[in-house]
Order: sequence, then structure tokens, then C-alpha cells
Amino acid sequence: MQNAIQVLKNAVEPLLKWYGENKRDLPWRGTHDPYKIWVSEIMLQQTRVEAVKGYYAAFLQKFPTAEALANASEEEVFKAWEGLGYYSRARNLHKAAKIIAERGFPRDFEGVRALPGVGDYTAGAICSIAYGLPCPAVDGNVLRVLTRLTADGRNIDENATRIAFSALLREVYPKEAGEFCQSLMELGAIVCVPNGEPMCALCPWQTMCLAHLAGEEEKFPVHSEKKARKIEEIFVYVLKKEGKFALRKRGKKGLLAGLWEFPNGAENESAIYGKVLAEKRAKHIFTHVEWHMTGYLVEAAEFFPQFLWATPEEIAQSYALPSAFKAFREWVK
Ligand code: SF4
Repeated sequence: MQNAIQVLKNAVEPLLKWYGENKRDLPWRGTHDPYKIWVSEIMLQQTRVEAVKGYYAAFLQKFPTAEALANASEEEVFKAWEGLGYYSRARNLHKAAKIIAERGFPRDFEGVRALPGVGDYTAGAICSIAYGLPCPAVDGNVLRVLTRLTADGRNIDENATRIAFSALLREVYPKEAGEFCQSLMELGAIVCVPNGEPMCALCPWQTMCLAHLAGEEEKFPVHSEKKARKIEEIFVYVLKKEGKFALRKRGKKGLLAGLWEFPNGAENESAIYGKVLAEKRAKHIFTHVEWHMTGYLVEAAEFFPQFLWATPEEIAQSYALPSAFKAFREWVK
């Protein structure tokens, strides 16, 4: 461990220098407003930077402060989140905004960590970037970079490994806490990349990275074996009647909880609803499940009362439909 600390200590300065010269110009960089940093960090969870860029600006325009977000309805928040996925993030953001609007944004790690939807990583990122506190933010990207740097073969899917590296980082945190936190993320995002070859020739650590010096970059990080995703066959109905389309709200628990959707189920019931006008297959991949969908555009026999019937304009404006159903949206017109 002593050796790892020394390697890491030596790595801080070159990394900060590299970051200063190479960081990408991203819309959430350069602010110290904890609200904005929080929104960006929640959006960036499990989501690519390119996808987040447009949402971030639009979301802040709509909800420029925690108070504005707290005063919005859940429906409005979901609508602003539509297509970004992992909707529990939006629900937690909304819940947390109500707490922040009442008490102000928490000023320390424990307070930030206690907000709904905020884990150790996000709390660390917010505290170091907004307040300059030496709070490590360690996710899979940072662990990949650090286990390569120190040629550490521990399984990065295990919490103990994350805790050990957080402790290690605390030992070496420089006074530029926010820059350091972001520089680790940035190196993982654009140089020490996950799949394929890390771009060691561009890396500020190429003369000190133990994995690279041994020519063993591909050995790190070590992961647990992945479980195969569960495959679910689903039948989806886009029911149309007199220019209106049927929507239904999902239950309060589980995948896509509380969002609107086209009626669907595990059995093919298209004939029950009316005359099938078109059919197509689509697939959507969630973290642990894959939906293999057969969609039907159906001329509905009646306005089935169990559904909400809305025009395409109303759907576009007020009802958040998850991107799992994107393939069938073109029928809504
Ligand atoms: S030298 Fe290569 S493997 Fe090591 S940290 Fe840099 S990019 Fe990653």
C-alpha cells in the first residue's frame, strides 16, 4: 500500500497539469454552484456526456434553482427528463429539491450524501467541485484509471476496493480538490478509456503507470463475471382512435415506475383491441433486462376506459414516454 501511495502522490501534479491543458469544454465546467453541479452529476450517472449536454442546458433553463425544481410537478420534471433514462434519478432530484428549497443546499459531505439519490460518488464530486473539499469521488471510471496506475488486481466491482481507493485518494488530495476530482474523471473518459486500448501515448502517467510499464494495461481493471441480462418478450399496443392515442401509467415500483407508456403485456392481445394496421419489432436494453418487443399499431374498437387518451400534441407536451418505446412513437401522429 505504501508503494501505491507513493505512485499516486507522484501522479497528482502531472495529472493536474494535463487536465489544465486538455480538459474538454463542457457546459457544467467552471461553475461552483452546488445546484448546477448536482444536476450535472445526477444526469451523468450511467449516461454519456454527449447525451447529457443538451438536457443539462434545457433543464437548467426550465428549473434554474432548487426552488423552481421543487415547485414543479412530478409530471413536468419527468417531461424534462424524457429520453434520458433511469427515471428514478428524476424522481429523487425532485424529492431532494424540496428538501434543498426548505433548508438550503447542504454544505458538507454528510449533508449532501443524505439527499435522496445521492451516493458516495456523487456526494464526493459535488463537495470537491463546489466546495473544494477533499472528498474522493470514486466510480468505475476512476477505479479503472487507479488500478491501472498502481497495477492493482483487486476486483473493482467489490465495495471494499472502492473504499480502499477512496482512503488512498484522501492521503494525496491536493488543495485543488475540485480540479483533481475532475481530472481523474477526465483521464478515464478520454485517455484511459474502458474498452479497447487505453491511449497511453497521450497519458500524463505513461512514465509512472505500473500497468503500462509492465505492458499489462489489458489486465486491469479486474471485474466480477457479468450475469447475463434477462430477456423479456413484450407486446406493445399503439391504440389509435379519432386522432387520440392510449396511454397508461406504470405502477409506483420497479422499472420505469410512475412513467407513461403504451399499453403492453406478456401475451399478444392485439386482436382484443381492434384492427391491426402495422407491426414491427424493436429491442431495448436496460441494465439487467432486455425487452424484445413486438409493437402493433391498432385502430381501436372503442375508447377503452382503462387508458388515458391523448392527442399527439398533448403527448409531446405533457406525457413523458421512456425511450424504451421510441421505436413505436413514429406511429403517434
Ligand atoms: S499509461 Fe495507459 S494504462 Fe496507464 S493510466 Fe495512462 S492511459 Fe491508463
